[in-house]
Amino acid sequence: MTTAYELRCRECGRAYGNQPLSICEDCFSPLEVEFDLERARGRFTREAITAGPLNMWRYKALLPVAEDYVPTTPAGMTPLLSAPRLGARIGAKNLYIKNDAVCLPTLSFKDRVVAVALANAQAFGFDTVGCSSTGNLANAVAAGAARLGLKTYILVPADLEPAKILNTQVYGATLVRIDGNYDHCNRLCSQIAEKYNWGFVNVNLRPYYAEGSKSVGFEIAEQLGWRLPDNVVVPMAGGSLITKIKKAFRELVALGLVADKPVKFFGAQATGCSPISTAVKAGADGIEPQRPNTIARSLAIGNPADGPYAIKAIRESGGWAEDVSDVEIVSAIQELAETEGVFTETAGGVTTAVTARLYAHGRIKPGELTVSCITGNGLKTTDVLNGAYEQAVPVKPKMTEFAAWLDERTGELVEVA
Ligand SMILES: *Cc1c(COP(=O)(O)O)cnc(C)c1O
Ligand SMILES: [Zn+2]
Repeated sequence: MTTAYELRCRECGRAYGNQPLSICEDCFSPLEVEFDLERARGRFTREAITAGPLNMWRYKALLPVAEDYVPTTPAGMTPLLSAPRLGARIGAKNLYIKNDAVCLPTLSFKDRVVAVALANAQAFGFDTVGCSSTGNLANAVAAGAARLGLKTYILVPADLEPAKILNTQVYGATLVRIDGNYDHCNRLCSQIAEKYNWGFVNVNLRPYYAEGSKSVGFEIAEQLGWRLPDNVVVPMAGGSLITKIKKAFRELVALGLVADKPVKFFGAQATGCSPISTAVKAGADGIEPQRPNTIARSLAIGNPADGPYAIKAIRESGGWAEDVSDVEIVSAIQELAETEGVFTETAGGVTTAVTARLYAHGRIKPGELTVSCITGNGLKTTDVLNGAYEQAVPVKPKMTEFAAWLDERTGELVEVA
């Protein structure tokens, strides 16, 4: 390799240098960014990282950007929270939450992938960028592109949550509502990217985009005091995040920043769109595409691009995948909020419900160090909680009135002076 990193075909290994391309011309397999780890060795050390900025760019030496790249978006470095109260409910004694519900600037882990993708869009000279999206990616691309002054076209399924639509349009992006699902949007984007020479972050820039997800894995290891967990539970849409957390752990081991140990990867999906978990449970290597029907719209990809690689990552690690119903998703959102003060969107409800089930079924043992990845913010999917809470008649601003109200509610006598 003559550069610090380059594109390689995941199947036939053909090298492509660096260019906006995501599929091998010989075998039509996905391309992946590969780093020259020996070359990174001197720059990717614990000391260099801790001296870096308090965001994902502290790991710049293993993110695909030029060595002199000056970051414009301080995404990442979200809290890793211990979760004892949720743990007590689900039988977990050593549970952590990686809280990307508060990832900046747009409150999902997609800010990480977009930061890397747009850096490359600029390097390749695109003046127009875009994406196909289930919502969070749309928000992140719109915000990131606004900051860089790029023109933006974003294709989404027409039935997306209103908050995710508004959170895209506010940044001035051109939103194209497509009368179809995510897979329709994505297919159309491939054709548009080629015809108009636009940089689509999850199409022709996809290999660079995907590397941004490694920062979740780097942060987990650093925040655990430079060690790997026993288990990671990760929500899956296209299946990229779970494979990249694994890649991050492998790179940390290869460069000697953490001790090697087995880590099990557990994938989480909604039953209404569960092509990856279905394959894992059935012992299949390939994906049977599904037509999504779930409130977990951010995970609603019926034909996941990285599905086979996610299956492999899960199986080789000795992990498992599960899927949960929409009813379970909503109650898990409430349970996480009530126990740990973290309000997540539907994807986080999926992860939380799946985490609980993995303990209940004994696939994760109570004392194992487990990280549950919360990837998005609940303020974007408040529609799923409509009607969940009673809005009582207002109480008059008088102590006697309040006491009477409390008395009625609790059935207890309250003394009024
Ligand atoms: C996109 C997304 C995911 C899944 O990411 P993939 O890499 O496509 O599997 C998980 N959670 C949220 C909130 C997302 O927006
Ligand atoms: Zn190939």
